Amino acid sequence: MSTRPDEVIYFDNAATTPVRPVVMSAMEPFLTSTFGNPSGGHVVARAAVRAMDAAREVIAGIVGCAPGDVVFTSGGTEADNHAITGGMPPRLGVPVCTAAEHHAVLDVVEALDGRVVAVDDQCRVDLDSLKSTLADLEGTTSVVSVMLANNEVGTINDLDPVADLVEEYSPVGRPVPLHTDAVQAAAWLDLRTAAAPAGMISISAHKVGGPKGVGALIVRKGIPIRPMILGGGQERGRRSGTPSVASIVGFAAALQATDDERISVHEKVSGLRARFAEGLMAQVPGTRVTVTETATLPGTCHVVFEDADSESLLLLFESAGLVASAGSSCSSGASEPSHVLAAMGMDEGLAGGAVRFSLGRDVDGPEVDRALTIIPAAVERAREFRL
Ligand code: PLP
Repeated sequence: MSTRPDEVIYFDNAATTPVRPVVMSAMEPFLTSTFGNPSGGHVVARAAVRAMDAAREVIAGIVGCAPGDVVFTSGGTEADNHAITGGMPPRLGVPVCTAAEHHAVLDVVEALDGRVVAVDDQCRVDLDSLKSTLADLEGTTSVVSVMLANNEVGTINDLDPVADLVEEYSPVGRPVPLHTDAVQAAAWLDLRTAAAPAGMISISAHKVGGPKGVGALIVRKGIPIRPMILGGGQERGRRSGTPSVASIVGFAAALQATDDERISVHEKVSGLRARFAEGLMAQVPGTRVTVTETATLPGTCHVVFEDADSESLLLLFESAGLVASAGSSCSSGASEPSHVLAAMGMDEGLAGGAVRFSLGRDVDGPEVDRALTIIPAAVERAREFRL
């Protein structure tokens, strides 16, 4: 059974992905026969505990941490919020993040009067800006958050030099934790290595073929964290609330499947993304590929169509059977100016014609070719609307 919607070309996998069949099968018993509350002590509860323990081990093995470091959450947003605040009451000090972070990080940093550091025109963290911010804070930094991969343009950050700077500017005896939002990266990169420099890591199931509403914050040993959600003391007191066992089991199955096919999918999708980008450049004059100089996620192809509006482009694409997005998906679905493109220094007029095509693991050549038959005519029409 294909997990790809048949009728539309779905190039919005950075927003969410279809649930894998293997995930649905893994979850089903925990929605029916094995329904126990893992906080209980009897036989039905113990089956749920065993399933959660097994899921925790699988996830820890794939992320590259100890099982006890995995704190299950309601998704990437909660994991990011928890990492930045440090729980309740929030960590003392000033949180720092990059200007291209997802709102789940950026808005929390801003709410806590934190500092925002620059990114370059390819969306990489600007190490000079980070260095001067850390120096300026004179050891009062509470946490530094730098995303592993950006959700709009796909840029991958190298966390090694970031971790070195954070260590250099940490007060003696109080290492400042480095957090990375790996929500987008988890679908494509080996987190055992790519996220190794981070002490805290956010991940989310629905970006890797798992269900929505479940994720995890990895908190490595020694990093102080208080609970953000208080109550029954689940997750070793770090996150209260009866866990969604089926979702957690599905999350582990989705990450396992992602990890098993990572190398072949990475290679296939990178090749198809290149073919798609080249096709766009060749067939649609005035197309600019946003990130060219650096490594990006294999599935993300962010482009700007000069003299066209994203909103009309997306409507025209959709009416021809292709869905994509103008940037990050916000709750209303309305388009709002992209803070990521602004942080990269992109001219506002140009940014108005931005489209994020995000290819998924199941993409194939005919689908890319079909998309390339739709886009040129739609861009031409969108430009006519603008005249
Ligand atoms: N961080 C990034 C980079 C994301 O792309 C997203 C989702 O779009 C999130 C965090 C939020 O994750 P969730 O949808 O699981 O709350």
